[in-house]
Amino acid sequence: MGYQKIKGTQDFIGERALSLASIRDRLVAGAERFGYLPIMTPLFEATEVFVRGVGEGTDVVTKEMYTFEDKGGRSITLRPEGTAAVVRAVVENKLYALPGLKKYCYFGPMFRYERPQAGRFREFHQFGVEAFGEITPACDVDVIACAWEGLKSLGITDMVLKINTIGDFASREAYSAALREYFTPHEAELCEDCRNRLAKNPLRILDCKVDGDSALVRNAPAIASSLSSEAKSYFAEVKDGLTALGIPFVIDPTLVRGLDYYTGCVFEIQSTHEDALKGLALGGGGKYSGLMKSLGGPDVPGIGYALGIERIMTARELLARPALATPARPLVIASLDPASRTHALVLARDLRAAGFTVELDYSATSLKPQFRLAERLGAQRLIIIGEAERDSATVTLKDLTTGMQETVREADLVKTLREGK
Ligand code: AMP
Repeated sequence: MGYQKIKGTQDFIGERALSLASIRDRLVAGAERFGYLPIMTPLFEATEVFVRGVGEGTDVVTKEMYTFEDKGGRSITLRPEGTAAVVRAVVENKLYALPGLKKYCYFGPMFRYERPQAGRFREFHQFGVEAFGEITPACDVDVIACAWEGLKSLGITDMVLKINTIGDFASREAYSAALREYFTPHEAELCEDCRNRLAKNPLRILDCKVDGDSALVRNAPAIASSLSSEAKSYFAEVKDGLTALGIPFVIDPTLVRGLDYYTGCVFEIQSTHEDALKGLALGGGGKYSGLMKSLGGPDVPGIGYALGIERIMTARELLARPALATPARPLVIASLDPASRTHALVLARDLRAAGFTVELDYSATSLKPQFRLAERLGAQRLIIIGEAERDSATVTLKDLTTGMQETVREADLVKTLREGK
């Protein structure tokens, strides 16, 4: 009897693993051009980091965390998202005390106990950025541009940027009160979760997976009526900045995002592809306040976003984008006798050091299986070594496309191979 992977997880094999790594590399390189430095935090943290960091009333914390007690009796949680862990690291390492805006980007697996379906896994990968310090509208615009450009660099075209503002703390409080007043007479029509949210955080009702599409939610008061004049002008500046950069956007007044600490502008980039991804967010983020303080640091605001790598991979497949990376076509070295095999290992080392991908058959005793290996791997050239070649410090180089072969001095091999590329 064999074992199967856990529901909601995936194996990434060969080209898919290469694709995941290339997406990561492109996004990291892109974010570095925006001034973000990589940060890597552990895959698990004290549960409290996420309870306080993501917010007690959120779905992520109440239903989706992989939490367990370790052998020392501590409550540990596999990270469901990156922001809280990054903020914990910033506080612990006192990075907030560095001058200017502190900018970090991360990549890695996240874990959420969600119902697996198209675009939703229990282990998935996110790339994200976080910036800490004085957050101005220009900063919001630059963060959104970083996400937008990152997706564009991966060939994603069918996407829409949705933005909203949930204002500063005062606006948010006023809006919560307005929503509570609106929803309370309709309490019986809400799902059980939303009835709880009504008391704790009525904003969360707007992005409920059950009630989110109902007429009741669609007709709820919009945030605009509760915004302070500062929050309005902040939002106007963000919109102007996006327009100046030519990034199209739509305003979605129901966009509130799943984290409790968001204040100011929030955004999501959704796929508009008709198929599997329709309406699913490729990523999202926004500005948050109070998070660092709640994790024991000073009250420094932050801003960030996270992109879902699996959804990006699906979007690329739906758009039929060419692979970002393909396995290199190797050179194959065939040896005609056991002594030549040792020689082949030495030659392979030297060719690999010169940048070539080299494969050899470790057990063949005749040429035929080594030809087959070369064929199977799509090799263009085969290097053959036998006693005669060893004695004369040469190799036989065979072009598998034309069938031509020539004798090359070992000392000239790298040069000949490079010229023949
Ligand atoms: P969030 O941290 O919830 O704002 O999610 C940011 C992005 O991560 C989403 O827009 C998705 O692209 C991706 N994401 C979130 N949850 C999942 C999941 N369960 N499976 C796959 N991708 C996810």
